[in-house]
Amino acid sequence: MNEPLLKPTCESDLVDAIASCEHVVAIGNRTKPAMSPGSGVTLVSLSAMTGIIEYEPSEFTFTARSGTRIDEVRDVLSERNQYLPFDPMLVDAGATLGGTVASGLSGPGRFRFGGVRDFIIGCVFVSGDGKVIRSGGKVVKNAAGFDIPKLMVGSLGRLGVMTELTFKVFPKPLSTLTLSVACESYTQLIDRIQQAASSRWELDAIDARPNELKVLLRIAGPQEANQAIASEITSRWTGDVSELESCEAFWHSVTELTFAPHRSHVVKVPTASTVFSSLDHHVSAAGNVTWIATDDVTDLDAKLTKLGVPGLVVRGEWSASIVGKIHTSHMSRNIKTAMEPHGRFPG
Ligand SMILES: Cc1cc2nc3c(=O)[nH]c(=O)nc-3n(C[C@H](O)[C@H](O)[C@H](O)COP(=O)(O)OP(=O)(O)OC[C@H]3O[C@@H](n4cnc5c(N)ncnc54)[C@H](O)[C@@H]3O)c2cc1C
Repeated sequence: MNEPLLKPTCESDLVDAIASCEHVVAIGNRTKPAMSPGSGVTLVSLSAMTGIIEYEPSEFTFTARSGTRIDEVRDVLSERNQYLPFDPMLVDAGATLGGTVASGLSGPGRFRFGGVRDFIIGCVFVSGDGKVIRSGGKVVKNAAGFDIPKLMVGSLGRLGVMTELTFKVFPKPLSTLTLSVACESYTQLIDRIQQAASSRWELDAIDARPNELKVLLRIAGPQEANQAIASEITSRWTGDVSELESCEAFWHSVTELTFAPHRSHVVKVPTASTVFSSLDHHVSAAGNVTWIATDDVTDLDAKLTKLGVPGLVVRGEWSASIVGKIHTSHMSRNIKTAMEPHGRFPG
């Protein structure tokens, strides 16, 4: 890419940068290149606007600049045994907080506690007409006004360039264990996912590898309680349940999207479907999110269009961030016009 690149170092530089360009695409570390399309645009990198501004372990909140890498946040939280339970994605690849919010990406942990939008409580962003807008707050209990921070989740840089983000965090579980449940058919796999999701086990993650006919159940809490739940699950599906020994590597392959390294692209689809059975895929959040690894995005685009669902291109370069059926509404168009009347950000 040879687009002009600006690297503001502070909010007022960013305001000037946005005001001086006709079309602006904000970028973090470009771990998701298909989401920052560019030709005839100016790239505005947030890589110089980094760092944790405030961390209040006793309040379970932190505020950081949006170019901050998530691995930095993870390490700082981890020193106080705290974490972001939605399992941020592509952390080792270098994902930033801003890119994570803009792409709306959450990992397997979203099943129990919710996704990015359940943890963001405040944000500061620069709108298309160069205003610095502060929304939400720095305290968990805050119900004032329309929740704009949540609107920024999944906005893909369309509504504004985020500069500061505030999140709530949780205490880290004392231990985790992962069970692998072998299934004899796709129908049984779906059935077991549903049984696990509606059980009283309060699982931390319910994922599946349909092509391998395996359901993966992550249990988190005190070790003794985890073992008790594991025994109950084992006796429910006797003979099919085993403890996954390489669980850290397994969950890492999900959050870093390396589960099919031989494929060039990974696309996120908000559904599970038998249509994908011939493709390399991983199902997350009890069957509500499917990660499809493919070399043929054109073919996948056609399949998703036929199904009437959108797919977000998360790994690999592509000419558009969304493939398949793009849903737009008057509401989203009106919000876009209200928040950036000059059409500076991606459409
Ligand atoms: C526990 C759980 C239960 C669920 N239950 C259901 C359910 O019952 N029914 C159901 O349908 N879904 C369900 N889902 C799926 C969920 O609602 C979302 O559709 C999906 O998980 C993606 O959500 P997200 O917050 O990560 O990203 P989203 O904000 O939904 O979007 C994903 C990404 O795609 C982009 N995108 C998607 N569509 C468009 C578009 N038209 N235009 C522009 N950008 C777009 C967004 O910008 C974003 O970056 C469930 C998910 C979970 C975790």
